[in-house]
Formats: sequence, structure tokens, C-alpha cells
Amino acid sequence: MHAAPVSFRYYAQRCQPRAVPGIRARQGRRNPWQNVAVLEIRNLYKAYVTGTEQRSVLGGLDLRIDSGGFAVLIGRSGSGKSTLLNLIAGIDRVGGGSIVIDGTDISTLAEPEITRFRRSRIGFVFQSFNLIPTLTVAENLALPLQLNGMRVDTDRIEGLLARISLPGRLHAYPEQLSGGEQQRVAIARAIVHQPALVLADEPTGNLDTMTARQVISLLTETVAEHGATLLMATHSPEIIDTPYTALRLEDGRIDG
Ligand code: ADP
Ligand code: MG
Repeated sequence: MHAAPVSFRYYAQRCQPRAVPGIRARQGRRNPWQNVAVLEIRNLYKAYVTGTEQRSVLGGLDLRIDSGGFAVLIGRSGSGKSTLLNLIAGIDRVGGGSIVIDGTDISTLAEPEITRFRRSRIGFVFQSFNLIPTLTVAENLALPLQLNGMRVDTDRIEGLLARISLPGRLHAYPEQLSGGEQQRVAIARAIVHQPALVLADEPTGNLDTMTARQVISLLTETVAEHGATLLMATHSPEIIDTPYTALRLEDGRIDG
């Protein structure tokens, strides 16, 4: 797949999700594909066993997120937000139920397929940035493309750096950047390979409030520009200025 710098319209068209079996887009909308589910979770269970004790974290959770949306997962610490995001990313395996992403039920995939699927269809932004410290900014941004067998287009990576207000920092190492700057690079890394779904787990947890607001604006804008869908977990939704769908995780389920 090539990755030349192209317009938002092109990205939006290219990133139309495949239809999810059994789910029909509602008719008569401005965007005919806007009401297609990019994520559909049914009856999700997850428990952790520590020693002799089994602790249920998610108990029959249902969730649907339409393509192109911005959903915010809200819940107290320990409610299972990270657990849910890790299951959606295929980092952790489900105890029961199904997770359909962009038409693929990842709960049925074996380990190598799930890794391939995650690399190509999902972007992840972590609280602690998780850039690779021994690689430059440019190399960190090239990695998702290389892992997917996509062409590494230096002009495009430079364009992305300009978009995240870090022009000319191609050859900097993560430790030479501030926390906010590292998280901006991590946002670029999460969208560079054109994923369908971007997951962000408390992405501003390590940042001061002003930087946190800027990072959330950049995250929501760049994900939208790339035609992807954003699911972000936070316990401080008050700093989000963009309209979003609130998903409250409580007692292992999401209400509404
Ligand atoms: P949140 O992100 O909302 O703070 P988590 O998903 O991290 O919540 O954790 C939910 C619950 O699951 C917590 O009680 C936590 O201790 C437990 N938990 C999370 N990961 C593991 C694990 N790998 N092993 C055992 N328990 C875990
Ligand atoms: Mg967490």
C-alpha cells in the first residue's frame, strides 16, 4: 500500500469501513457510512486470576461505536478501562464474548493474526508515550509503516511532523523532547499507517492541564483528518473541548 501525501477527502474515502455483517447503515444521512459500526462488542467477559482468587473485571459488556466518532470511556480507577482497551487492541485475550472491529471478529483470531490485525487496523496512544528510546522521531514514525510492509515516505513523515507542530525534529531522540512533544509524536505514530480505530488510554495522565488540552485537541483533530475513529479512556473528561459520546464503565458494563 502506498502512502503519498493526499487530501482529507481521499483519506476519508479510503478509510470507509467495511460493512459489518448483520449491521445495516441507516439511510438518509449526509454521510452514508457514518452509521456503520467500526467497533461492535457483545457480551464481553474478562476475569483475572491471582493466586486462588478470581476477580471479574468485565461482566457481559456491550458496546457499539460508529465509524468516524469520538467516544470517551469514563470510569473510576480500577473500573476496567485499560482492560477493555487492551482487549480491543488484542493485547489481552477475552474471557468470553465477541469484539468485531472493522468487520473482523478478533476474539476468534489466533495470536499471529491478531498481531497482524492490530498493526494494520489499530493505533494506540499510551499514558507513558512508549516511544522507542533508541530510535529517532522519524524512525519511530516509520516503524508502523515498515511493520505493515508499507512504503516509508519521508515527505509524508515530515508533513506529519509539521502537522503536530514539530517541524524539523526528524532526527531528535525521544529523550530530547518534552512529555507533551513525545505524546504528539505518539499521536502521529498512532495514525501514520491509516488505522480504522485509534485507542488512547489516559493519554494526558502524565501531562499538565494546559499541555493536556493541547494534546487532546491534536489527537481528536488528527484522527478525524485521517478518517479514523477515536476511543479514549480518561478519568478527567472535563478538559475535553470537542463534542464526544460518553461511555460510562461501571460494574463491568457500559450503560446506555
Ligand atoms: P482502570 O484502567 O479503569 O484503572 P484496569 O483495567 O487497569 O482499570 O483494572 C481493572 C481491574 O483489573 C483492577 O482491579 C486491576 O487490579 C485488575 N487487573 C488489571 N490487569 C490485571 C492483571 N494483568 N492481572 C490481575 N489483575 C489485573
Ligand atoms: Mg487504566
